[in-house]
Amino acid sequence: MGEPVPPALSPSTRLAVLLGDPVAHSRSPTIHNAAFRALGLDAVYLACRVASGDLPAAVAGLRALGVFGANVTIPHKETVVSLVDRLTPEAEAIGAVNTIVVETDGTLVGANTDAVGFVQPLVPFERQLRGQPAVILGAGGAARAVAYAILAALQPSRLTIAARQREQAETLLYALAPYDPRGVLHAVALEEAAVPMIREARLLVNATPVGMAPHPEATPWPHATDFHAEQVIYDLVYAPAETRFLRDAVVHGAIPVGGLAMLIGQGAAAFEHWTGQAMPLDAVRLALAGT
Ligand code: NAP
Repeated sequence: MGEPVPPALSPSTRLAVLLGDPVAHSRSPTIHNAAFRALGLDAVYLACRVASGDLPAAVAGLRALGVFGANVTIPHKETVVSLVDRLTPEAEAIGAVNTIVVETDGTLVGANTDAVGFVQPLVPFERQLRGQPAVILGAGGAARAVAYAILAALQPSRLTIAARQREQAETLLYALAPYDPRGVLHAVALEEAAVPMIREARLLVNATPVGMAPHPEATPWPHATDFHAEQVIYDLVYAPAETRFLRDAVVHGAIPVGGLAMLIGQGAAAFEHWTGQAMPLDAVRLALAGT
Protein backbone atom coordinates (compact mmCIF):
# COMPACT_ATOMS: atom_id res chain seq x y z
CA MET A 1 0.00 0.00 0.00
CA GLY A 2 1.33 3.47 -0.95
CA GLU A 3 1.63 6.62 1.09
CA PRO A 4 -1.70 8.04 2.26
CA VAL A 5 -2.93 10.78 -0.04
CA PRO A 6 -3.82 14.03 1.78
CA PRO A 7 -7.41 15.09 1.17
CA ALA A 8 -7.71 17.93 -1.32
CA LEU A 9 -8.36 21.10 0.68
CA SER A 10 -11.15 23.29 -0.65
CA PRO A 11 -13.13 26.36 0.46
CA SER A 12 -15.68 23.98 2.00
CA THR A 13 -13.13 21.90 3.96
CA ARG A 14 -14.12 21.81 7.62
CA LEU A 15 -11.62 22.19 10.42
CA ALA A 16 -11.03 20.32 13.68
CA VAL A 17 -8.12 21.20 15.96
CA LEU A 18 -6.06 20.11 18.93
CA LEU A 19 -5.29 22.76 21.57
CA GLY A 20 -2.28 21.95 23.73
CA ASP A 21 1.31 22.79 24.56
CA PRO A 22 3.37 20.97 23.42
CA VAL A 23 1.59 19.26 20.53
CA ALA A 24 4.51 18.31 18.28
CA HIS A 25 4.40 14.60 19.22
CA SER A 26 0.63 14.22 19.25
CA ARG A 27 -0.87 11.21 17.43
CA SER A 28 -4.29 12.86 17.16
CA PRO A 29 -3.71 14.43 13.70
CA THR A 30 -2.72 10.98 12.35
CA ILE A 31 -5.80 9.37 13.94
CA HIS A 32 -8.41 11.89 12.81
CA ASN A 33 -7.02 12.69 9.36
CA ALA A 34 -6.87 8.95 8.59
CA ALA A 35 -10.50 8.64 9.68
CA PHE A 36 -11.66 11.64 7.62
CA ARG A 37 -9.83 10.25 4.59
CA ALA A 38 -11.21 6.73 4.98
CA LEU A 39 -14.78 8.05 5.17
CA GLY A 40 -14.27 10.61 2.38
CA LEU A 41 -15.13 13.51 4.70
CA ASP A 42 -14.05 16.97 3.51
CA ALA A 43 -12.38 17.85 6.81
CA VAL A 44 -8.90 18.31 8.20
CA TYR A 45 -7.44 18.11 11.74
CA LEU A 46 -4.57 20.38 12.78
CA ALA A 47 -2.53 20.51 15.99
CA CYS A 48 -2.32 24.05 17.39
CA ARG A 49 0.25 24.93 20.03
CA VAL A 50 -1.56 27.28 22.40
CA ALA A 51 0.21 28.92 25.34
CA SER A 52 -1.80 28.99 28.59
CA GLY A 53 -2.40 32.76 28.41
CA ASP A 54 -3.89 32.40 24.92
CA LEU A 55 -6.35 29.63 25.79
CA PRO A 56 -9.45 31.87 26.28
CA ALA A 57 -8.85 33.53 22.89
CA ALA A 58 -8.23 30.16 21.21
CA VAL A 59 -11.48 28.71 22.63
CA ALA A 60 -13.49 31.81 21.60
CA GLY A 61 -11.83 31.46 18.18
CA LEU A 62 -13.33 27.97 17.71
CA ARG A 63 -16.77 29.55 17.52
CA ALA A 64 -15.57 32.54 15.48
CA LEU A 65 -13.86 30.35 12.87
CA GLY A 66 -16.62 27.76 12.63
CA VAL A 67 -14.32 24.95 13.78
CA PHE A 68 -16.55 21.89 14.17
CA GLY A 69 -14.67 20.12 16.92
CA ALA A 70 -11.59 20.30 19.08
CA ASN A 71 -9.49 18.17 21.35
CA VAL A 72 -7.78 19.63 24.38
CA THR A 73 -4.61 18.22 25.88
CA ILE A 74 -1.89 18.99 28.43
CA PRO A 75 -1.82 21.52 30.09
CA HIS A 76 -5.30 22.87 29.27
CA LYS A 77 -7.74 20.03 30.09
CA GLU A 78 -8.79 21.48 33.46
CA THR A 79 -8.60 25.20 32.63
CA VAL A 80 -10.88 24.80 29.63
CA VAL A 81 -13.75 23.60 31.86
CA SER A 82 -14.66 27.22 32.70
CA LEU A 83 -14.35 28.37 29.07
CA VAL A 84 -17.06 26.22 27.47
CA ASP A 85 -20.83 26.85 27.61
CA ARG A 86 -21.78 23.53 29.18
CA LEU A 87 -20.31 20.19 30.19
CA THR A 88 -21.36 16.60 29.66
CA PRO A 89 -21.93 14.66 32.92
CA GLU A 90 -18.62 12.79 32.44
CA ALA A 91 -16.64 16.01 31.95
CA GLU A 92 -18.30 17.48 35.03
CA ALA A 93 -17.45 14.41 37.14
CA ILE A 94 -13.88 14.17 35.88
CA GLY A 95 -13.32 17.93 36.11
CA ALA A 96 -11.54 17.96 32.76
CA VAL A 97 -12.42 18.38 29.08
CA ASN A 98 -10.52 16.64 26.29
CA THR A 99 -13.14 17.17 23.55
CA ILE A 100 -15.16 20.22 22.54
CA VAL A 101 -18.18 19.92 20.30
CA VAL A 102 -19.20 23.13 18.54
CA GLU A 103 -22.96 22.91 18.01
CA THR A 104 -24.62 24.55 14.98
CA ASP A 105 -25.69 27.57 17.06
CA GLY A 106 -22.11 28.04 18.27
CA THR A 107 -22.64 26.51 21.73
CA LEU A 108 -19.41 24.94 22.99
CA VAL A 109 -20.00 21.63 24.76
CA GLY A 110 -17.11 20.23 26.83
CA ALA A 111 -16.90 16.45 26.89
CA ASN A 112 -14.45 13.95 28.30
CA THR A 113 -13.84 10.82 26.22
CA ASP A 114 -10.85 9.52 28.24
CA ALA A 115 -13.16 7.49 30.49
CA VAL A 116 -14.97 5.76 27.64
CA GLY A 117 -11.66 5.31 25.80
CA PHE A 118 -10.19 3.64 28.90
CA VAL A 119 -13.07 1.21 29.29
CA GLN A 120 -13.29 0.08 25.66
CA PRO A 121 -10.29 -2.34 25.71
CA LEU A 122 -11.64 -3.85 28.97
CA VAL A 123 -14.96 -4.95 27.47
CA PRO A 124 -13.71 -8.53 26.77
CA PHE A 125 -12.62 -8.85 30.44
CA GLU A 126 -15.67 -7.21 32.00
CA ARG A 127 -17.04 -10.39 33.59
CA GLN A 128 -13.76 -11.28 35.27
CA LEU A 129 -13.18 -7.71 36.52
CA ARG A 130 -16.65 -6.66 37.66
CA GLY A 131 -16.94 -6.40 41.45
CA GLN A 132 -13.23 -7.14 41.98
CA PRO A 133 -10.51 -5.00 43.64
CA ALA A 134 -8.54 -2.59 41.43
CA VAL A 135 -5.50 -0.35 41.93
CA ILE A 136 -4.50 2.81 40.06
CA LEU A 137 -0.89 4.02 40.27
CA GLY A 138 -0.80 7.83 39.96
CA ALA A 139 -3.37 10.50 40.84
CA GLY A 140 -3.17 13.10 38.06
CA GLY A 141 -5.72 14.08 35.41
CA ALA A 142 -5.74 10.71 33.65
CA ALA A 143 -6.10 8.83 36.96
CA ARG A 144 -9.27 10.80 37.73
CA ALA A 145 -10.84 9.79 34.39
CA VAL A 146 -9.73 6.19 34.94
CA ALA A 147 -11.10 6.08 38.50
CA TYR A 148 -14.44 7.51 37.35
CA ALA A 149 -14.56 4.94 34.53
CA ILE A 150 -13.76 2.00 36.82
CA LEU A 151 -16.36 3.08 39.40
CA ALA A 152 -19.04 3.47 36.73
CA ALA A 153 -18.26 0.47 34.52
CA LEU A 154 -16.88 -2.20 36.86
CA GLN A 155 -18.35 -1.48 40.34
CA PRO A 156 -15.12 -2.64 42.04
CA SER A 157 -15.21 -4.05 45.58
CA ARG A 158 -12.30 -1.70 46.37
CA LEU A 159 -10.51 0.91 44.25
CA THR A 160 -7.16 2.08 45.60
CA ILE A 161 -5.41 5.20 44.30
CA ALA A 162 -1.68 4.98 45.04
CA ALA A 163 0.31 8.18 44.48
CA ARG A 164 3.76 9.29 45.56
CA GLN A 165 2.03 12.29 47.16
CA ARG A 166 -0.68 10.75 49.31
CA GLU A 167 -2.52 14.11 49.51
CA GLN A 168 -2.92 14.05 45.71
CA ALA A 169 -4.62 10.65 45.94
CA GLU A 170 -6.86 12.00 48.73
CA THR A 171 -7.83 15.03 46.64
CA LEU A 172 -8.89 12.67 43.85
CA LEU A 173 -10.87 10.58 46.33
CA TYR A 174 -12.79 13.65 47.61
CA ALA A 175 -13.48 14.86 44.06
CA LEU A 176 -15.00 11.50 43.12
CA ALA A 177 -16.85 10.92 46.43
CA PRO A 178 -20.25 11.80 44.86
CA TYR A 179 -19.73 8.92 42.39
CA ASP A 180 -18.67 6.46 45.09
CA PRO A 181 -21.86 5.77 47.08
CA ARG A 182 -20.52 2.43 48.36
CA GLY A 183 -17.29 4.02 49.70
CA VAL A 184 -14.93 1.72 47.79
CA LEU A 185 -12.31 4.39 47.03
CA HIS A 186 -9.11 4.44 49.12
CA ALA A 187 -6.05 6.65 48.93
CA VAL A 188 -2.54 5.46 49.82
CA ALA A 189 1.02 6.64 49.34
CA LEU A 190 2.80 4.68 46.59
CA GLU A 191 5.26 3.18 49.08
CA GLU A 192 2.31 1.87 51.16
CA ALA A 193 0.86 0.02 48.16
CA ALA A 194 2.31 -3.17 49.50
CA VAL A 195 2.21 -6.70 48.22
CA PRO A 196 -1.29 -7.86 49.32
CA MET A 197 -2.95 -4.83 47.73
CA ILE A 198 -1.21 -5.36 44.40
CA ARG A 199 -1.62 -9.15 44.44
CA GLU A 200 -5.32 -8.93 45.32
CA ALA A 201 -6.03 -6.41 42.55
CA ARG A 202 -7.60 -7.98 39.48
CA LEU A 203 -7.02 -4.74 37.54
CA LEU A 204 -3.80 -2.75 37.97
CA VAL A 205 -3.44 0.51 36.02
CA ASN A 206 -0.37 2.66 35.46
CA ALA A 207 -1.65 6.25 35.26
CA THR A 208 1.81 7.78 35.74
CA PRO A 209 4.16 8.70 32.88
CA VAL A 210 6.77 6.24 34.23
CA GLY A 211 8.06 4.02 31.41
CA MET A 212 7.49 6.57 28.65
CA ALA A 213 10.16 7.18 26.05
CA PRO A 214 12.99 8.12 26.54
CA HIS A 215 12.99 5.98 29.73
CA PRO A 216 11.44 2.69 28.52
CA GLU A 217 13.20 0.60 31.20
CA ALA A 218 11.49 2.48 34.05
CA THR A 219 8.41 0.92 35.65
CA PRO A 220 5.96 2.25 38.23
CA TRP A 221 5.91 -1.17 39.98
CA PRO A 222 9.35 -2.85 39.98
CA HIS A 223 8.20 -5.85 42.09
CA ALA A 224 6.99 -7.85 39.10
CA THR A 225 6.68 -11.08 41.10
CA ASP A 226 3.45 -9.55 42.52
CA PHE A 227 1.86 -9.99 39.07
CA HIS A 228 -0.09 -13.14 38.25
CA ALA A 229 -2.39 -14.81 35.74
CA GLU A 230 -5.69 -13.58 37.21
CA GLN A 231 -4.79 -9.93 36.58
CA VAL A 232 -5.32 -7.45 33.78
CA ILE A 233 -2.41 -5.01 33.77
CA TYR A 234 -3.12 -1.79 31.91
CA ASP A 235 -0.52 0.85 31.02
CA LEU A 236 -1.78 4.27 29.91
CA VAL A 237 1.65 4.96 28.42
CA TYR A 238 1.49 4.39 24.64
CA ALA A 239 5.01 5.34 23.53
CA PRO A 240 6.61 2.83 23.53
CA ALA A 241 3.69 0.49 22.80
CA GLU A 242 5.38 -2.26 24.85
CA THR A 243 6.53 -0.86 28.17
CA ARG A 244 8.53 -2.71 30.80
CA PHE A 245 5.39 -2.71 33.01
CA LEU A 246 3.55 -4.66 30.27
CA ARG A 247 6.48 -6.97 29.51
CA ASP A 248 6.66 -7.86 33.24
CA ALA A 249 2.90 -8.53 33.15
CA VAL A 250 3.29 -10.97 30.26
CA VAL A 251 6.21 -12.79 31.91
CA HIS A 252 4.02 -13.45 34.97
CA GLY A 253 0.98 -14.57 32.98
CA ALA A 254 -1.17 -11.42 33.39
CA ILE A 255 -3.20 -9.95 30.52
CA PRO A 256 -1.48 -6.79 29.20
CA VAL A 257 -3.41 -3.80 27.83
CA GLY A 258 -1.40 -0.97 26.26
CA GLY A 259 -2.25 2.74 26.11
CA LEU A 260 -2.66 2.86 22.34
CA ALA A 261 -6.06 1.16 22.62
CA MET A 262 -7.25 3.92 25.00
CA LEU A 263 -5.79 6.61 22.75
CA ILE A 264 -7.75 5.24 19.80
CA GLY A 265 -10.85 4.74 21.97
CA GLN A 266 -10.91 8.34 23.23
CA GLY A 267 -10.31 9.58 19.67
CA ALA A 268 -13.10 7.39 18.32
CA ALA A 269 -15.55 8.76 20.88
CA ALA A 270 -14.55 12.36 20.04
CA PHE A 271 -14.89 11.63 16.32
CA GLU A 272 -18.38 10.27 16.87
CA HIS A 273 -19.37 13.38 18.86
CA TRP A 274 -18.24 15.61 15.97
CA THR A 275 -19.37 13.64 12.91
CA GLY A 276 -22.09 11.30 14.16
CA GLN A 277 -20.16 8.50 12.45
CA ALA A 278 -18.18 5.57 13.82
CA MET A 279 -14.44 5.92 13.42
CA PRO A 280 -13.00 3.52 10.79
CA LEU A 281 -10.66 1.78 13.22
CA ASP A 282 -8.75 -0.37 10.72
CA ALA A 283 -7.72 2.70 8.71
CA VAL A 284 -6.67 4.47 11.91
CA ARG A 285 -4.58 1.53 13.16
CA LEU A 286 -2.91 1.27 9.76
CA ALA A 287 -2.06 4.97 9.78
CA LEU A 288 -0.65 4.78 13.32
CA ALA A 289 1.46 1.75 12.43
CA GLY A 290 3.03 3.75 9.60
CA THR A 291 4.10 6.69 11.81
P1 NAP B 1 -0.40 14.17 35.26
O1 NAP B 1 -1.68 14.90 35.48
O2 NAP B 1 0.89 14.91 35.19
O3 NAP B 1 -0.30 13.06 36.44
C1 NAP B 1 0.77 12.15 36.50
C2 NAP B 1 0.70 11.34 37.80
O4 NAP B 1 1.85 10.47 37.82
C3 NAP B 1 0.81 12.19 39.06
O5 NAP B 1 0.14 11.55 40.12
C4 NAP B 1 2.32 12.20 39.29
O6 NAP B 1 2.69 12.50 40.61
C5 NAP B 1 2.65 10.77 38.97
N1 NAP B 1 4.07 10.59 38.66
C6 NAP B 1 4.81 11.29 37.78
N2 NAP B 1 6.07 10.82 37.78
C7 NAP B 1 6.12 9.84 38.71
C8 NAP B 1 7.16 9.00 39.19
N3 NAP B 1 8.40 9.07 38.70
N4 NAP B 1 6.86 8.08 40.13
C9 NAP B 1 5.60 8.00 40.62
N5 NAP B 1 4.57 8.79 40.23
C10 NAP B 1 4.83 9.69 39.28
O7 NAP B 1 -0.44 13.32 33.91
P2 NAP B 1 -1.74 12.63 33.27
O8 NAP B 1 -2.39 13.56 32.31
O9 NAP B 1 -2.54 12.05 34.38
O10 NAP B 1 -1.05 11.47 32.39
C11 NAP B 1 -0.43 10.34 32.99
C12 NAP B 1 0.06 9.39 31.91
O11 NAP B 1 -1.06 8.87 31.21
C13 NAP B 1 0.93 10.07 30.84
O12 NAP B 1 1.94 9.16 30.47
C14 NAP B 1 -0.01 10.28 29.68
O13 NAP B 1 0.66 10.29 28.42
C15 NAP B 1 -0.88 9.03 29.82
N6 NAP B 1 -2.20 9.20 29.18
C16 NAP B 1 -2.52 8.30 28.21
C17 NAP B 1 -3.77 8.40 27.61
C18 NAP B 1 -4.12 7.41 26.56
O14 NAP B 1 -5.08 7.66 25.80
N7 NAP B 1 -3.42 6.28 26.47
C19 NAP B 1 -4.68 9.40 27.99
C20 NAP B 1 -4.31 10.30 29.01
C21 NAP B 1 -3.05 10.18 29.61
P3 NAP B 1 3.38 13.92 40.95
O15 NAP B 1 2.28 14.95 40.84
O16 NAP B 1 3.91 13.71 42.31
O17 NAP B 1 4.44 14.16 39.90
